[in-house]
Amino acid sequence: MEYGDKHILVLGAGASGIGASWVLAQVGAHVVLNDYKPVTLPADEEKRLVSAGVDIITGRQDESLLDGVDRIVISPGISLDIPIVKAAQARGIDVVSEVEVAYELSKSPIVAVTGTNGKTTTTTLLTKVLEGTGKPVRVGGNIGDSLSEVAYSMPADGFLVAELSSYQLETIKHFRPIGAIMLNITPDHLARHKTMENYIAAKERIFANQLSTDFMVLNIDDPIVADMKHRVPSHILEISQHQVVSNGAYYDKGQCYVTKNGTATPVISSADIHIPGSHNIENILTVIALAYALGVPVETIHRIISEFHGVEHRLERVKTLDGITFYNDSKATNVDSVVKALESFDQSVILLAGGHDKMTPLEDFMQLVKHHTKAVIFMGEAADRFEAAAKEAGVQPIYRASSMKDAVEQGYKLAAQGDIVLLSPACSSFDWYSCFEERGDDFKNCVHMLQEGRHH
Ligand code: ADP
Repeated sequence: MEYGDKHILVLGAGASGIGASWVLAQVGAHVVLNDYKPVTLPADEEKRLVSAGVDIITGRQDESLLDGVDRIVISPGISLDIPIVKAAQARGIDVVSEVEVAYELSKSPIVAVTGTNGKTTTTTLLTKVLEGTGKPVRVGGNIGDSLSEVAYSMPADGFLVAELSSYQLETIKHFRPIGAIMLNITPDHLARHKTMENYIAAKERIFANQLSTDFMVLNIDDPIVADMKHRVPSHILEISQHQVVSNGAYYDKGQCYVTKNGTATPVISSADIHIPGSHNIENILTVIALAYALGVPVETIHRIISEFHGVEHRLERVKTLDGITFYNDSKATNVDSVVKALESFDQSVILLAGGHDKMTPLEDFMQLVKHHTKAVIFMGEAADRFEAAAKEAGVQPIYRASSMKDAVEQGYKLAAQGDIVLLSPACSSFDWYSCFEERGDDFKNCVHMLQEGRHH
């Protein structure tokens, strides 16, 4: 869309909406930024928007906002089912995500990462590896700054790396990444997408506009992702930890290989990888496959992966005290990521879980918990439901904690030398905290306050 003199209504006054509003004003649009909640923008942000000519309307969201509007730009947190969006669609007004605006404004090609779990880890690593090309690389989307704002500032000869959730993909139109990664699909966010089919369809939008010269990395160890093969219009790169692939990357006996037309080149061995678990091998393989296809030399890929120690709050090693190691996996907000965390350790694990309940089924999950933990400590809003499911599955012993400090102290007492105390909540953090980072920081503080030699 040519934005000059167009009337744009941006919905959602969070980071994405603020970024999109500012950028659209820069390219000549008349912008109204609206949030139904009476949110107050940070003072500097408000000043920046007002001086760019953006009208900010918060605390109401009536249909009159649609009068004269050419397009709605929607933030990822907003459902397409809300009345104003329905009304806009009924009037024939275009509704697109902020990511679409980023695509329209970016002079650089875009590479994109999606999946249920591992997006931030993979996006972060991919960004570092692409920086190895010497070209300018910037990152945004679900991670860091709003994608449209990053896109607007991009020079033409770099890479814009986008971490994308299903919400952001749901409302793209022409968005086309030259390379993209599909990590895995497990149930999450079903409250918003309603069915697994809708969730998968939203994720598949990532390759919908790709050309045959573009690249799509598929993790074929995931059956839902493997099935996408039939619908991908671009050049497929497969990754697997169970089979050799001829174009992509695979893992065999402690070594990651990249392949092109059946020829395999070793890239990195597990001895040089410092992020734990097979789920991280999955993340690494996707980066190897895409970076190699985009022209990054094997030596550069090897060096940057070997220097990577993961992202904070994702299976982050906090401290070892009396031989007990504490891990902060606060970002594990769904059961699948907890499963991956538990499978990453051979040692006995004391699991700290619970938080704001996402109401996903727990039967299979608790069976796995039973086999991979020495004890569990539940907290937060989800504690009752988690305890009932754990009892049903025969998990024991089960403890309850009334605060993070209480959970950490109980975990420390229960642990013996060589054990692991793992915060991996399987829940979002909104019962006790404003975000998972705050929860992870609280956990780490509580761990740092423990006194050595006190656990027996
Ligand atoms: P996302 O951005 O998709 O939420 P993160 O990289 O932030 O992904 O990781 C979220 C959680 O999922 C962490 O607990 C992490 O250890 C776990 N995780 C990372 N990669 C994977 C993967 N490939 N499959 C399953 N879980 C993963």
